Amino acid sequence: MRFVLRFLLACAAPAALAAQNPPANADVGRADTVRGLTGTDTSAFRRLELPTPNLIRTGSGAPGRAYWQQRADYVIHASLDTVKRVVTGDERLTYANNSPDTLRYLWLQLDQNLFRDTSRGARLFPPGARNGTHGANGGVTLTRVALAPAPARKGARAVAPTSLDYLVNGTMMRVNLPRPLPPGATLTLDLAWSFPFGPNDNRMGLEEIDGGTIYEVAQWYPRMAVYDDVRGWNTEQYLGQGEFYLEYGRFDVTLTVPANMLVAATGTLRNPELVLTATQRARLAEARKSDETVVIRGVDEVNDPASRPVAPGGTLTWHFTADSVRDFSWAAARHFVWDAASANDGATLAESFYPPSADSIWKGATQDVKFAVENYSRWMKYPYPVAINVNGIEGGMEYPMIVFCHNRTNAQALFGVTDHEIGHSWFPMIVGSNERRYAWMDEGFNTFQNFYNWEKRYPNQPNRRGNFDSYLRYAATAERQPLMTPADRIDLRTLGEVGYNKPGLALRLLRDVVLGPDRFDTAMREYVRRWAFKHPTPADFFRTMEDGAGEDLSWFWRPWFYTTATLDQSVDSIATAPDSTGKTTSRVMLRNRGGIVMPVRLDLLLEDGTTERVDLPVEIWYDGGSFVYDVPQGRRVTAAVVDPDNQLPDIVRANNRWPRTADEREPLSTDSTGKQ
Ligand SMILES: [Zn+2]
Repeated sequence: MRFVLRFLLACAAPAALAAQNPPANADVGRADTVRGLTGTDTSAFRRLELPTPNLIRTGSGAPGRAYWQQRADYVIHASLDTVKRVVTGDERLTYANNSPDTLRYLWLQLDQNLFRDTSRGARLFPPGARNGTHGANGGVTLTRVALAPAPARKGARAVAPTSLDYLVNGTMMRVNLPRPLPPGATLTLDLAWSFPFGPNDNRMGLEEIDGGTIYEVAQWYPRMAVYDDVRGWNTEQYLGQGEFYLEYGRFDVTLTVPANMLVAATGTLRNPELVLTATQRARLAEARKSDETVVIRGVDEVNDPASRPVAPGGTLTWHFTADSVRDFSWAAARHFVWDAASANDGATLAESFYPPSADSIWKGATQDVKFAVENYSRWMKYPYPVAINVNGIEGGMEYPMIVFCHNRTNAQALFGVTDHEIGHSWFPMIVGSNERRYAWMDEGFNTFQNFYNWEKRYPNQPNRRGNFDSYLRYAATAERQPLMTPADRIDLRTLGEVGYNKPGLALRLLRDVVLGPDRFDTAMREYVRRWAFKHPTPADFFRTMEDGAGEDLSWFWRPWFYTTATLDQSVDSIATAPDSTGKTTSRVMLRNRGGIVMPVRLDLLLEDGTTERVDLPVEIWYDGGSFVYDVPQGRRVTAAVVDPDNQLPDIVRANNRWPRTADEREPLSTDSTGKQ
């Protein structure tokens, strides 16, 4: 989802960067400990402790030969009642137990129960808050929880339809099984349910605009909770802030809505001949071959009855299927404008659905979708047939093949949110991490990649993704929670940093300063390849990056991801001493004052007026927090500066140069040409 930065800006003190004292990082071992393995190793370079590798998750970070994952396939028939504003559905949920464990009960998610006025989420957040329930008093009404009947098959006896005993605990439901589900077995649940739309819900909901209603429907059907090798059943409540963790499978969904509505949904539309006009089908065929946006239903057509097929019963049923997805969402409105274009040379159809008054901004939206799909395919080619952007009440939220974006006033801002939400197609829609526990594994990864798309689309314009200044303000004033903080426990005021910006910046530094794009990108692509449609943990990511980049990065992961340590490199002084050949030479005293170690870029001003650049590896901090750089060949240095190009988020820049100057950004040379 998209995080609105105003919370962060409101709580960050301006001019905080003027602080001269490094913050106390009492919880972090300084780099200045002795080399050696006797006693407790407190070096910044000690191996990061990760879970012991096994046959499921290997030491290289790849899924092992015993890796397993559950599977959930859904057949859903739902209808939208636009008078009562209720969705009613029935669902056949086929659950494959691929684990080595016998399951005596199943856990399912009933996310709509967040919208009860007594829910835990409603108690946590004020009604109008970003993750609040806006005074909704809805929730799921279950009308059937049963085992679906099944005929006898080889090795399995017939199953009669059986009502199941269940327990609802907030947004979670435990279904007790009459017989245990052994390893390798499958069962099918038969569920029926309904829920009402609230006044203005979280990540979904309805909006009145242009004389019509846009319905955005998500977290809308009982979904399987994940049972995995790491924690067994993942039963965290849906509180509103933390996002999702879901099993992969196939969806076969029919949606019955008033015939005058257009529906956008996860998956391939299976019955266009029934729900679209011949003109619209012809335009869609044209769009599949067109890099330019093709209007499927124009602004001037939304009130034209001829833009919908004849439907004597007053409703139409739209049929969608989707493979290798972890969720399914949809939107419907009677007055959607709709356009589309080809992405990835016809492999995917990029589409936008929006109300007529959004047209002046949104007629460019499909090209934003196409841009995002094509550029993020650098990690793995976008694997789905459609990528859809819908304009409605939700500010910015991602689902497989479909995203909801609200902005309709500013083309650049619309690009920003669209690019972000479509970016989630890779993290977490393809790479299915546990968002409720690790916000950085989806929002942080996404913010990282958003940085480069923004640079490409709007070069030389302010880039808020992986942003230095925003992180520095936060680090100097409000940093309290490491990136590993579970998503629901992150302070909402700093969620934009902890969930998004800081991990985005950390990965950008790892790519552009530490490893270089070639090594980083190779490793990142391998991470996506290994864990596509699977459930990676942080350790699987760290190990895969080290495996692909060829580097033990414990010294990087620990402070950035597990602590609130900061970076402060300094030049403490310049001395003169004889070198090993007896020549008098300059010695530059460097110091690492924060809890983060990084490589050092050092610019030197020599006595003869020339300058020299030296790149020192991170290993200079092996012996602790100080390092003496001996300038070779008996040369004299008159000034030195670390991080001369402002590549690093150094929290105290005033100590970066020697001699100290009033203006830390003053060029190293006094040469009036500005040459260094
Ligand atoms: Zn997001």
